[in-house]
Amino acid sequence: MTFESLGLAPALLRALAEQGYATPTPIQAAAIPLVLTGHDLLAGAQTGTGKTAAFALPLLQKLGVDQVIHNNKQPRKPRALILTPTRELAAQVHDNLRAYAKYLRVHTAAVFGGVGMGGQIQTLRRGLDIIVATPGRLIDHMDRRNVDLSCIDTLVLDEADRMLDMGFAPALKKILGALPKQQRQTLLFSATFVPEVKALAAQFMHDPREVQMAQPNAVAVGVHHRVHPVDADKKRDLLLHLLAADSRRQTLVFTRTKHGSDKLCRYLDQHGFRVAAIHGNKSQGQRTRALADFKNGKTTVLVATDIAARGLDIAQLPAVVNYDLPMVAQDYVHRIGRTGRAGAEGLALSLVSREEEGLLRDIRRLLKQDLAIEPIEGFEPAWNLRLDNPAPAMRKHGRNNGNAPRNNAKLGKPSHARRPHAQREKKGGEHTAAKKQRRSWRDKVNSRKA
Ligand code: AMP
Repeated sequence: MTFESLGLAPALLRALAEQGYATPTPIQAAAIPLVLTGHDLLAGAQTGTGKTAAFALPLLQKLGVDQVIHNNKQPRKPRALILTPTRELAAQVHDNLRAYAKYLRVHTAAVFGGVGMGGQIQTLRRGLDIIVATPGRLIDHMDRRNVDLSCIDTLVLDEADRMLDMGFAPALKKILGALPKQQRQTLLFSATFVPEVKALAAQFMHDPREVQMAQPNAVAVGVHHRVHPVDADKKRDLLLHLLAADSRRQTLVFTRTKHGSDKLCRYLDQHGFRVAAIHGNKSQGQRTRALADFKNGKTTVLVATDIAARGLDIAQLPAVVNYDLPMVAQDYVHRIGRTGRAGAEGLALSLVSREEEGLLRDIRRLLKQDLAIEPIEGFEPAWNLRLDNPAPAMRKHGRNNGNAPRNNAKLGKPSHARRPHAQREKKGGEHTAAKKQRRSWRDKVNSRKA
């Protein structure tokens, strides 16, 4: 299979060659023909497997090659809209789009919050073909009539399951309301698909095709998972110990809260690490700088909340540490997806305190795989991690694995997977106080998430 055999134009092939893309990845080979023939698409593929090009290339082929879109007297109205959950991902998708469109006359813009409106207004008024946006800022522009979405005929939701959950639902509803409904092509891409997403998607998609490249919620095979049980008050020092074992290794460390991320960042800084923090309370300038410094090796540790969990492409990132386990098991898949990308090896370390046992069980259940539990000498807790049963076996690909759509799903209804421990809450569950504690964490985290 070659990009040429997928029917892409020479201008795109040239840009891809410059990017060093020799052959399409499996998700690209599967998705590009379907998008080119105009189908709506639900595409599930592990993070880091080339999802961006899987929607960007056919979009550019259609807008920049197959259709004549220019009427030089009038500013162009945007024809395609790509929505992402974070500013960083919008910037990254836009960078990729520009690289692929290098030899095409397609105008693109990234529209996201945290930066001035002025530059974006000018770009929007000049006329555009493709907008990459985060929902909040796009709505600001819609409210001020800076943007006309009446000609959008392709909508892409990147990290679709996140875009369809409660936090984004009102914004998404408003944006969908401003788009033409007839003959719109809708493409949903995500590494994780929870059962409700397909049912929600059915409300605004037309006869979608489905491409599932990997077992849903699977993590890359090259990632080695290790769980280090530790008392909560020893986590900081265990982290220092692990980081010091290879102080030149780039490591992305996830914490649950913004405050926790700042505290940990200061602690690591005091201990001589080149470290920065990225989370929703930082200015966009600080966020952009923190990510750029980490990507170019100026800092070796980036402490982040889950805003850095989705879609970010950090080349050759060797290790991710869950300083706190995520409250929602799916977020483990996204966090870990920052390492082991494009076939590389990666290390996923999780520091697990006694209070987090239930979260770890949820992760095992989701991944359907056992995770190596390795106490570290000098940091062993007095208790044993209780995981009870072995992880459920991975089902064979292609069977109904519980992902069938539910009929009663509504846009914005909390999904099962964003309600941790939902299955366990039924019967014979663990201690109610622990459940309450985690529920209140979860609520706090969800309300604080950037
Ligand atoms: P994505 O999943 O879109 O974030 O892509 C992950 C990484 O794979 C990015 O660094 C892309 O530039 C790279 N990539 C995407 N498609 C290809 C391809 N066909 N060949 C080589 N690298 C690719």
